[in-house]
Amino acid sequence: MALTAPLRCLARDFCNSLLRRLLQKCAKTQPYPFAMPLTGSLGWLWRVFCNSLLRGSLALRLAGGETRPFGAALCIPHARIAWLVTLLLRSSGLALLPSAPGWAQANPPLDSLACVRFLKREVRQLCRFEGRGYAGRGYQKAARYLYRRFQKMGYKTRIDTFQHAIRYVKKAYVRPHGSRPWRVGIDFWPSPMSPSVKGHFIVDTVPLPGKLWMIPDTMSLQEALRQALSNRVQGILRPVRKVNASYADDPLPLLLIETTYRPAAGTQMEISIQIQQEEVQNYNIIAEKPGIQDSFWILGAHYDHLGRVGRTVFWGANDNASGVAFLSLLARRLSRDTLPYGVMWVAFGGEEAGLLGAYYFVGRHARHLERLKGMLNFDLMGYGEKGIAVVGAKDQEDFWKQVVRHRPPSLAEVPHLLRPNAPNSDHYPFREKGYPALFFYLQGGPGYYHDPLDRPETLSWYRAYDMVRWVETLLRAGE
Ligand SMILES: [Zn+2]
Repeated sequence: MALTAPLRCLARDFCNSLLRRLLQKCAKTQPYPFAMPLTGSLGWLWRVFCNSLLRGSLALRLAGGETRPFGAALCIPHARIAWLVTLLLRSSGLALLPSAPGWAQANPPLDSLACVRFLKREVRQLCRFEGRGYAGRGYQKAARYLYRRFQKMGYKTRIDTFQHAIRYVKKAYVRPHGSRPWRVGIDFWPSPMSPSVKGHFIVDTVPLPGKLWMIPDTMSLQEALRQALSNRVQGILRPVRKVNASYADDPLPLLLIETTYRPAAGTQMEISIQIQQEEVQNYNIIAEKPGIQDSFWILGAHYDHLGRVGRTVFWGANDNASGVAFLSLLARRLSRDTLPYGVMWVAFGGEEAGLLGAYYFVGRHARHLERLKGMLNFDLMGYGEKGIAVVGAKDQEDFWKQVVRHRPPSLAEVPHLLRPNAPNSDHYPFREKGYPALFFYLQGGPGYYHDPLDRPETLSWYRAYDMVRWVETLLRAGE
C-alpha cells in the first residue's frame, strides 16, 4: 500500500470515478445508493464496504489524517489499514470507533460522535419524505415531522401557513433515437417554465421553425429566446456543464431543456415533459425558547427541496436536510439550558421556490422582530473540508465581529470565505428589512447540488460539531 505520489494520485482518481459512476447508476430510484443486484449476506457485505468508503472522509479526519473523500481507502498508509478495518466493523455495528488521542483532548469524542450520529439519523429521516417537494406532497410530511420533533423536545411550537403558486416538473423523459434515455437531473433538466410536451423532435444547430434548437455554448439565454421566438422554433436545448434542477413561477411559450450532452444536427429525439402548475399551501415551522431577556436570536434553515420527478427523487441531503438536522441538534442540546436571550428555531418552507417562507415570516412578524438580536441561517452543512463560507459577513462588520468572537479555537485556522450579502438563501429577506443576518454554509464534498446524487450517504459532517459548538457558545454568551 506504500504507493508513490503519482501512483497514489492515479489510484485515487480511479477510485473516485468508479464510485461516482456507481452512485450515478444507482441514483434513480433507490433511497440507498448501493442497492446492487446482490442479495443476502453478499449484498450486506457489499453495502458495508461501499458505505465505509464513503464514510472514509470523516473517519480519516477523526484518525488525525487529511481527508480524501471517496478515494480515501486506496491511499491510506499502513497505520490506517487497521483504522479502515475498525470502520468496516463499526459500519456493521460490531465495534466501537476508537478515539484519536490528540483530537480527543480538544473535543470530547463521545460527544462529537453522538452529534454526528444524531445528524446522520435526522438527515436520513428527512430524506424519506421523497425530496420534500410538491409532487407527492413530501414537503407536507416533512413539515409535520418537524413540528412534532420540536414539540417533543419541549418547545412551544407553531406553524405559519402561507399560500403561493408553483410550477414544477412532474414527469420528464428524453431519449435520442438509438441510445439510452437521458437521466433527469443528471443529463438534462427541463425548465418548469416550459409547457408540457409529448412527441418526436428533430435537433438542429440553427434556429428553424418546428425544430429543436441546440444553441451554441457562448450564446446567452436571453438572446437564444429572442431568436427562438422570432424563428418559431419548437424548443431550445441549452448546453451546460452541470444541470441545476429548480422550480419556476412564470411560463415560457416554448420548451427549454438544459443538457450536458451536445446532440448533433439531425438527431431525432423522443420527448415527454409534464409540467404541473398549482396553488399550494406552505408552512414555516417555528419553535421558541424564552430567554432571561426579551430580545432573541433566530436560527433558520429551509426544509423544502425539489421533490420527485417521475421515479427520480431529489433527496436534498446536503440542501438542506443537513441544515435542518443542524437546527434540530442545537434545539436538542439547548433544550434544558437557561439562556440569556431567547432563541427561535425556524424551519422555512418554500425556499427553493424563491425564499417564500422567509419573505412571509419577515412580513408577518415585523413587530416581533424589533427585538431580534440577529438571524443565523444554515444551508448546506454536510461537508466542510474546504472551509466555511459566511454570506453577509463582508457588509455587516460589527455583527460578524460579534459572532466570530465566540468561534471555537479549532476553527480559527480553517479557511473562511467572507462574502457580501446575496439573495441565495433565507437570510436575505431579513437583510432586506435591515435586520442583522448571516448565512453559513460549509464548503467541500463531491459537488452534488440540486441533483439526485445529493444523498445522505455522501455527507462527511466534517465541520458540523465545531459549528454546533460555535453557535452554542454564541447563544450562551450574555452580551
Ligand atoms: Zn438550499
